[in-house]
Amino acid sequence: MRVSNHPLFTVREVPSEAEIVSHQLMLRAGLIRRLTSGIYTWMPLGLRVLRRVEQIVREEMDRAGALELLMPAVQPAELWQETGRWDQYGPLLLRINDRHQRSFCFGPTHEEVITDIARRELKSYRQLPVNFYQIQTKFRDEIRPRFGVMRAREFVMKDAYSFDLDDVSHDASYARMREAYTRIFTRLGLAFRVVEADSGEIGGQQSEEFHVIADSGEDAIAWCEADGFAANIETARTLPPTTPRPPPGSERAEVHTPEVRTIDALAAFLGVAPERCVKTLLVDGSDGRPVALVIRGDHELNAVKAAKLDAIADPLRMCDADTVRAHVGCAPGSIGPLDLDVPVIVDHAAAHVADFVCGANRDDYHLTGCNWGRDLPEPQSADLRNIVAGDPSPRGGGTVRIDRGIEVGHIFQLGRKYSEAMGATVLDEDGRSRPITMGCYGIGVSRIVAAAIEQNHDARGIIWPGPLAPFDVIVVALGAERSERVAGEADRIHDALQAAGLQVLLDDRALRPGVKLADAELIGIPWRIVVGERGLKEGVVELQHRRETEATRVAPEEVIALVAQRVRDDVEPID
Ligand code: ATP
Ligand code: MG
Repeated sequence: MRVSNHPLFTVREVPSEAEIVSHQLMLRAGLIRRLTSGIYTWMPLGLRVLRRVEQIVREEMDRAGALELLMPAVQPAELWQETGRWDQYGPLLLRINDRHQRSFCFGPTHEEVITDIARRELKSYRQLPVNFYQIQTKFRDEIRPRFGVMRAREFVMKDAYSFDLDDVSHDASYARMREAYTRIFTRLGLAFRVVEADSGEIGGQQSEEFHVIADSGEDAIAWCEADGFAANIETARTLPPTTPRPPPGSERAEVHTPEVRTIDALAAFLGVAPERCVKTLLVDGSDGRPVALVIRGDHELNAVKAAKLDAIADPLRMCDADTVRAHVGCAPGSIGPLDLDVPVIVDHAAAHVADFVCGANRDDYHLTGCNWGRDLPEPQSADLRNIVAGDPSPRGGGTVRIDRGIEVGHIFQLGRKYSEAMGATVLDEDGRSRPITMGCYGIGVSRIVAAAIEQNHDARGIIWPGPLAPFDVIVVALGAERSERVAGEADRIHDALQAAGLQVLLDDRALRPGVKLADAELIGIPWRIVVGERGLKEGVVELQHRRETEATRVAPEEVIALVAQRVRDDVEPID
């Protein structure tokens, strides 16, 4: 392929709308172009990368025995009404009407459609286990599309669905997918971690996420090297303190705290540490009446864990200021747990603080020196907060650290949630009808391209891992427009590399060397061969890997075999 036929669409300036490096580089390297918020075109160079990701995903899914199919992107509302998700899914679901005013959605995921296939086509245990997958465009009307294809509205997902007769067989299907995912992310050359996860909107029992480790990641993951614990902080449990709570040491007092709006301001105003303050939040209870949640000042409420408590509405909803005033008689910033006539649930850590500071349930007043068991009843405590670095691991083998991660894959045990709702049953060996046990398995194919760049770049541009590169080699012909010898040699090397089975791009543009070399670095092709008049006179071309700082001088006749071998070493599938 020659750049004269495969224009690059690179740009020098850093686009102002792109906050993170992968988004900037994808725009600058001409991989994607934005159509509108969260909706992108894959330009030819970008599409080559996307296709390589798809290819590795497809090979490993096939290898794991999954069967590829392709389901419709547009789905009728009736199917979603059968599972109740037409109402539950909310504004994330893009709803469409056809000319007869019948309702449809653009599929954000395909549990309903595949379960409809299953109930029609699967009749007997003899047809199980079976796993169907597709690679397809999804649409989710994300509240905050950002970071380019990382959190887009329209994106490419690989989704797979397994069908088993019972839990034992299902566990084996799930383990096979976990293994396939591990192979996929290993082959893609990404540093990743598998973590316990919340199952969110999709529902079901156990689930695990695959995260690419990157500082720009939207998720925080807690992990402990010593005992192997790893979980998304959405779901990571915190342990109650094991030591007894210190005894009360001071008297309770009320203090005027005008204009104090945050915990930090309160702590500074009173000269106490934020961990000695508690914050009290009023949320909707599951019976519609408010419930107060109490968290230590330096901790954050975990909405996912809180919503799982029986007493709390799911999803978690904060009470508005009017509700707070009606029940407590003050603004939300002045609530405290004393003398409340709503149920109070206290985080384990907040229940462990003595002489704490809290709101006085009176505008602009706080209480100091409060103590559980003395000034108010012994608390009903629960796990309500985000785990933080330094907390004990819930597995008990050490302390946790927190890393940022980009969720690139998610595997779920669905159980019989969808098969029961939609009547997908098979006859077992005894002729009894049984709902099928399901699993579902997603990979963010387009997100992977951005995640790979987050992990592999430098100040000059992208550095593609070999298996993802849009081309294996770029041949840069310097001054080819002036030198027939350079043009001829560059052509010959290009053709020979192509004949050796490599993906080759020849930069044959009549541009300054600096511009061509800068483009080669920006688009991140792993291997670069520079062909120039001066080198050829000395009988060499220059070979350089994108990660190396120095080029190697190689005879033109040797460079083909050398590069072919190095590329093969790089992209060879694992055993
Ligand atoms: P997130 O928590 O990032 O919103 P999710 O948990 O809702 O994702 P899943 O339903 O698990 O997503 O979808 C499977 C995979 O699809 C995710 O692991 C992720 O890699 C990818 N994905 C989900 N939403 C998006 C999006 N808006 N843009 C790009 N990829 C996405
Ligand atoms: Mg997920």
